[in-house]
Amino acid sequence: MTERRNILVVEDERDLSELLLYNLNRAGYAVTVASTGRQGLEAVSARIPDLILLDIMLPELSGTEVAGRVRANPATSHVPIIMLTAKGSEVDQVVGLAVGADDYVTKPFSMKVLLARVEAVLRRTNRGGATEPRLLTMAGVQLNLETHEATVDGEPIKLTLTEFRLLSALLQANGRVLSRSSLMGRAMGPGVTVTERTIDVHVTAIRKKLDQHAGIIKTVRGVGYRATPEPENEPDGTPASSSTI
Ligand code: CA
Repeated sequence: MTERRNILVVEDERDLSELLLYNLNRAGYAVTVASTGRQGLEAVSARIPDLILLDIMLPELSGTEVAGRVRANPATSHVPIIMLTAKGSEVDQVVGLAVGADDYVTKPFSMKVLLARVEAVLRRTNRGGATEPRLLTMAGVQLNLETHEATVDGEPIKLTLTEFRLLSALLQANGRVLSRSSLMGRAMGPGVTVTERTIDVHVTAIRKKLDQHAGIIKTVRGVGYRATPEPENEPDGTPASSSTI
C-alpha cells in the first residue's frame, strides 16, 4: 500500500469544508482542514501537503496571497494548488492562472467533478511522497528542489534563484504551456512587478546555460513557454508544423 496522499483544504465555509473532508477521506486521501489563509500557511509549513484546495475569499489572507506565498517558497513551490472560486470576477483572477494555481473549480461544484480534478492534477504532478528527494528531470537536465542544484548531463550549472524557479515551473508543468504572467507569479513571488519581457530575458539566459539541451524550452508564440524533451523543427522555437505522421 502506498501512503495516503495528504490534501490541505483551506476554506472558511464550514459546511463546504466538512463536505470536502468527508468526500476526500472517503476517496482515500488524508485531509487537513484550515479555515483562514494564515492557518493554511501554518498547515503547509507543519506538513507539506501533496495538494492544496484553496478558497479565494478567506479571512486574514486571501487565497491568492496564500498561493503566492506557497509558490514563492522553494520548499513548497512544487505543491499543486486547485483554487475554489465563486463565479465572475474571482474566475478572472485565476484564469490565465496568474496566481500560480494548477487548476480551479467554480462554486457550486459537484464532488464528482472536484475529485476528478484532484486526481488529474495529482497524476500530472505525480511525485510520490513528500519525503522523497524531489528531483525534476528532463532530457539531460536535472533540478534538485531541496538543494537547488542544477545539472546538465551530470555537470553542475549555476542558475540564479529566479532562473531556477522558472525552469522548475516549466519542468513541473510537464509539457503544458505556461503563460508569461503565470511564470512571473511562480518565479518572482508575490508583490514583485516585472514586465513580461523580463521573463524572455531570463529564459534566454537559462537556454544559454542548458547548452546542448536548450531546445527543451519551447517558445509558444503569443502565449508563453513550455518544456518538453521532444525535438522541434525550428531551433528558435517556432511551433513545428503538424505534418509529422
Ligand atoms: Ca470563502
